[in-house]
Amino acid sequence: MNEEIFIYGGGITGLFLAYHHIKKGNFVTLFEEKSNLGGVIGTRREKEGLVELAANGILLTDDIKSMLNDIGLSPVFPKKASKRRYFWINQRLSQFPISIFSGTKLLYSIFLKKLKFDSSLNFESWSSGMFGSSVTKNIIEPALGGIYGTRLSELQAETIFSQWNGNGKSTIFQEIKKNKKKTYGTVSFPNGMGDLVCHLADYLSPRIQIKTGVSLSNIDEIQNLNGTVRICTSLKKLLPLLEPLLRKNEVPNLLTISTITRFGETKLTKKPCFGVLFGKNEGIQALGVLCNSDIFEGRVATNLHSETWIYPKLDGGENRDLLKSIVEKDRATITGKQEEAKAFYQTTWEGVFPAYDKKLYLFNETLNRLETDWKSKGKDIKFYGNYRKGIGLRSIFESTMSE
Ligand SMILES: Cc1cc2nc3c(=O)[nH]c(=O)nc-3n(C[C@H](O)[C@H](O)[C@H](O)COP(=O)(O)OP(=O)(O)OC[C@H]3O[C@@H](n4cnc5c(N)ncnc54)[C@H](O)[C@@H]3O)c2cc1C
Repeated sequence: MNEEIFIYGGGITGLFLAYHHIKKGNFVTLFEEKSNLGGVIGTRREKEGLVELAANGILLTDDIKSMLNDIGLSPVFPKKASKRRYFWINQRLSQFPISIFSGTKLLYSIFLKKLKFDSSLNFESWSSGMFGSSVTKNIIEPALGGIYGTRLSELQAETIFSQWNGNGKSTIFQEIKKNKKKTYGTVSFPNGMGDLVCHLADYLSPRIQIKTGVSLSNIDEIQNLNGTVRICTSLKKLLPLLEPLLRKNEVPNLLTISTITRFGETKLTKKPCFGVLFGKNEGIQALGVLCNSDIFEGRVATNLHSETWIYPKLDGGENRDLLKSIVEKDRATITGKQEEAKAFYQTTWEGVFPAYDKKLYLFNETLNRLETDWKSKGKDIKFYGNYRKGIGLRSIFESTMSE
């Protein structure tokens, strides 16, 4: 109560954190190096429809509902038909791409098998031992690839499930139950995700001091501030600031993600769906595709359909024409037809989030140590963002709330 809080970085992490501190009655100053707030989140309104620049939705919880209520923003819920989610496995679309035997093994692994992480194994090897190779290849690989922007061999279980106890004492079900909060599915907003940033900024601006065009350029400068300091810059921007404090092997790997929003007159799948997730070695370069106009109302001009294709870093670079041709090739593999697109909008984010691998786990331990060292010297300085406790907006909201 009545604490002085300095927040660096006005992306969604900084905005959520500022919101939680206002609710606690603290005084907040937010520094953002750009002239606008929101970081990677934003929505462009093109003549064909809405184009999201990063997140397409947020997982709704009671706490997020209450924030939306405060900032005067109504969520847009997905259409019922978009409940259908496809996997592209063995050259076909499938909603349940494993056998009954593998399904039974999966249930056994969730409800009865003790959860034990092994830091010497990447996610792919660990998961094959835990759930079996069919579940790993056909469900976990496509599902996590779409969320974490890379393949399972680049990820590590204990980094992704850092809030779970993986020392062999409990089951996955028990860990899920322990951390479970009621959720209401993924939602967006009337004008897309940019609405969330605008409403948060409008709510915060009369209540906090916002200083845009101000950059944190040296980690020493915050140690002299008289108050609590929260660093909410992206990891990419944080790493050069921490360089003097890190050893070379402690620097995490950053991933590049490209999205292409494609507008066309034909649908990707016969039945409406949320999207399609792609496994490794299935002849498709995308990690996943979202069928935007099947999911939310009001995303497109009349008679058009909108899809967002998500790609990891590609060998030929992020050249626009190359990406367009890859999208059309991937799409034709699914539909079996070459269909004309009306428009493509590409966004490439270089180093936008970290690989959730062992290096990130160790990097977070280093950050925890730094925070503890500072605390022992009477300085309250902490790091928040999509490299700490999860990439998704819901995880960021909850980590900034529980500080
Ligand atoms: C393509 C894509 C799709 C996604 N889809 C989803 C989704 O559907 N659902 C979901 O939940 N999540 C999704 N995410 C994840 C989510 O969007 C991000 O994790 C989140 O937006 C990151 O927010 P942030 O504030 O931590 O970082 P950023 O958005 O990078 O913001 C950091 C801010 O700090 C500022 N800054 C940087 N350096 C300094 C400095 N030195 N001093 C002051 N300010 C500084 C920057 O200008 C920026 O405004 C997606 C991400 C991407 C890239």
